[in-house]
Amino acid sequence: MEAVVSVKAVVVGAGMGGMSAAIALKQLGVDVEVYEQVTENKPVGAAISVWSNGVKCLNHLGLEKETAELGGTMDSMSYVDGFSGDIMCRFSMQPLIDEVGQRPYPIARAELQQMLMDAYGYDDIHFGKKMVAVHDGPDRATVEFADGSTDSADIVIGADGAKSLTREYVLAGPVTRRYAGYVNFNGLVEVDEKIGPATEWTTYVGDSRRVSVMPVAGNRFYFFFDVPMPQGVPFERGTAREVLAAEFADWAPGVQTLIAKLDPATTNRVEILDLDPFDTWVRGRVAVLGDAAHNTTPDIGQGGCSAMEDAIALQFAFRDHPDDPVAALSAYESARTERAGELVLRARKRSDVTHGKDPAKTAAWYDELRGEDGTNIIRGIVGNIVGGPLT
Ligand code: FAD
Repeated sequence: MEAVVSVKAVVVGAGMGGMSAAIALKQLGVDVEVYEQVTENKPVGAAISVWSNGVKCLNHLGLEKETAELGGTMDSMSYVDGFSGDIMCRFSMQPLIDEVGQRPYPIARAELQQMLMDAYGYDDIHFGKKMVAVHDGPDRATVEFADGSTDSADIVIGADGAKSLTREYVLAGPVTRRYAGYVNFNGLVEVDEKIGPATEWTTYVGDSRRVSVMPVAGNRFYFFFDVPMPQGVPFERGTAREVLAAEFADWAPGVQTLIAKLDPATTNRVEILDLDPFDTWVRGRVAVLGDAAHNTTPDIGQGGCSAMEDAIALQFAFRDHPDDPVAALSAYESARTERAGELVLRARKRSDVTHGKDPAKTAAWYDELRGEDGTNIIRGIVGNIVGGPLT
């Protein structure tokens, strides 16, 4: 893309949102500085499903080949009765791919992150820089770091995640996130067809719980277990196998195989929270992006995809307002708040049904799955995918 915008941008946070934004702005010729608090690339979590809208964003950033190489081949999808192991429904992903024009790709997080960092320039990221304050000014916005240093730029993009400090500045106060009522255990494991077919997204459901595997590159499954429980239950890292074996003792043989195969040392456990959507994403020259702007439950796999959509929308806003950073940020905000907020609410609704907020609704969903030929599920996923900057 032609270099057209002579603006300096500071991006705080080198997660998938911040890195996508940094690449997107750099494509326009923006002078970008990325600051990240951690000292090296160490993403939390094993993998994510990058749905077709996210993949289109990565393609737009020039990463089509790399993304396809890292992505797992997910040709079909199935739901399985968690206790009996009987298949409730199984169907091809092809109608989805045909409708939206792009295959989705589950990708290991560390590899996705590395791909983005390499594309931007790993050595150009300032690691070990924790932002402790941000403020706007008439001509520049400024960030302050824990080491006492500062940087100023025409704009500051706070891609500083779910606990964003930038969000506090933009909203002029802290927010309270909401516990979604369940814990997610996740990791990577070698493909084993006793758990599910190698090219299928397999999901076992029962008792308001969910156990799922989806393929990523390198003959591996990304796996996760959703377990409803109160917030704050103590957990010692390394004990996932014992905890899951107890929680899923009477589940189907495929689930037992997964529990036996997973590596407890690398299995993550995350309490799932989200945040009510809000419409103020910009304060003058300071804006939020990614989880800082829309913290969602992972139930429709759209948090990271939405962060990538933010990055592309930000690029388009600067393309359309090359000489006016404040107008560009305002256009970015207008383009994104409704779409991103809708995804947060869709995910929350899905989460409630999956995790038994109203057990009658969850039971009705299980019944629906037994009669499903894929049409309704694919319609729902397509509904999540369309509506972003690249549609
Ligand atoms: P983050 O990835 O959180 O990155 C923020 C970065 O900012 C971090 O590197 C952090 O160290 C840095 N930072 C924070 N504060 C500061 C500071 N003060 N100074 C400097 N740096 C700072 N999304 C999908 O699209 N598909 C999925 O399948 C999916 N599955 C998920 C499963 C689980 C269990 C969870 C929890 C989330 C899932 N998501 C998924 C959501 C996805 O992980 C997030 O939406 C995505 O990581 C957001 O990216 P981000 O860059 O905005 O934030």
